Amino acid sequence: MDYIALYRKWRSQRFSEVVGQDHIVRALSNAIKMGWISHAYLFSGPRGTGKTTIARIFAKSLNCVNGPTVDPCNICDQCISIQQGNSLDVVELDAASNRGIDEIRSLREQTRFVPIGGRYRVFIIDEAHMLTQEAFNALLKTLEEPPPGIIFILATTDPQKIPPTITSRCLRFDFRRIPDELIRKRLEEVAIGEDIPYEDSSLEILSRYADGSLRDALAYMEEAILYGGGSLKVREVIECLGVPSYMQIKDFLLAIYRGDLDKGLEVIDDVMGGGVEPKIFIDNVISALKDMALLPDEKSEIRWSLEEISRCISLLEDLSLKLRWYNFPKLVLEVGLIKLISNFKRAVVVSEVRKADVPVVEFSTDFDKIKDLWSLFLDTVKRESIRLHAILRECFPSSFTDNTLIIGIRAGFSFHYEYLSKQENKRVLEKILSSLLKKDVKIDFIMEEGKGDKLKSTANKIAEMFNGSIIATESKKEEKDNEDGNG
Ligand SMILES: [Zn+2]
Repeated sequence: MDYIALYRKWRSQRFSEVVGQDHIVRALSNAIKMGWISHAYLFSGPRGTGKTTIARIFAKSLNCVNGPTVDPCNICDQCISIQQGNSLDVVELDAASNRGIDEIRSLREQTRFVPIGGRYRVFIIDEAHMLTQEAFNALLKTLEEPPPGIIFILATTDPQKIPPTITSRCLRFDFRRIPDELIRKRLEEVAIGEDIPYEDSSLEILSRYADGSLRDALAYMEEAILYGGGSLKVREVIECLGVPSYMQIKDFLLAIYRGDLDKGLEVIDDVMGGGVEPKIFIDNVISALKDMALLPDEKSEIRWSLEEISRCISLLEDLSLKLRWYNFPKLVLEVGLIKLISNFKRAVVVSEVRKADVPVVEFSTDFDKIKDLWSLFLDTVKRESIRLHAILRECFPSSFTDNTLIIGIRAGFSFHYEYLSKQENKRVLEKILSSLLKKDVKIDFIMEEGKGDKLKSTANKIAEMFNGSIIATESKKEEKDNEDGNG
């Protein structure tokens, strides 16, 4: 029997089977129905989220003998040859290994020929951001004067690296990380289809470990099936992937929560003894905490506020960074644990004081809360939109008044300002922030002033303070020198 990797065997063959990219499937299906076929597409998004899979289904839809159709037959010669990767009308180029001008030149040569059996010739360039500048220039010429019947699909995990001259000529589709739950469902279908006995939680562990990539999930699943000798058991999946168990994560968090150092050290021994990488352990603890913040479990013994969870996440993130650089991971982990426990001890004291009904001055304002939650806020935005997150990451919480958070944007970043100020983007951010704060808040943006403006505004403030007015401004040379020296 021929062996075929699971992810190839279970690759979606029609739009209705595609997992987690409904927005793209819908737009492309409508394009096919309306006959609005562009000559160039840009598919961008994380690895393993279905870019080349959808590119191939799209090519089949266009070239199927029954087509153009949103539901290609998968049995005609056109469909089968595209599926097997030997269609003369659908050319795939992996730019990671063919990144030079010669490859693009030969691709351009091929664009001169009319389709052989189908209606369109489709050129799929995977990892398109890897092309060299010369190759991009050559490609640009073709995109500027596209021969009829030719379609380019550029797939990339890193759209920022593709020159704007190219992207502006493409219809762009942003693929999203596939939610864990959808990956789990797909793994279940595969396990049933392959007649593999499985324990429910093993699929959950696999889907979580795959971090939004269905292709990775299927590859890990295959490894785990081989490791387990034909079945998927939780214990074996954990061993095979080298991931910490749910119990270890829970015990570790409980140890921090209760301030139980002995228990925490015991978990660390157990984790390291089981061959789990310390960094992977901490990253898993972080992701468990994020889940705790987003989907609070009423029954959980750990009763942290969002601010506490957020503080714990940022301490763990520091720890995760240190684990990358230091040579004695166990020691780093133990010292990190002590730091976490001592940091949370204070929280316990405060809550005891409150229990005794001694009035406690509430220092925490909404703005402090937002600053504490900022990293969690960014993470939640990332789940919604990678592009929005990439832009917001460079901004900062500036002030909070009248139930409105003002987000600061650095001087000169006018693209950021315009993008974030769009109604639809603002609404997404407001929704997320409101749900984190558990109250409705508005968001607005302010761009920092440039250096000259800043001086002027300080002068204005001073003038205001003394009820005066500015009569002249001059900049002092020594001041500037000082500034340069410090900066
Ligand atoms: Zn067909």
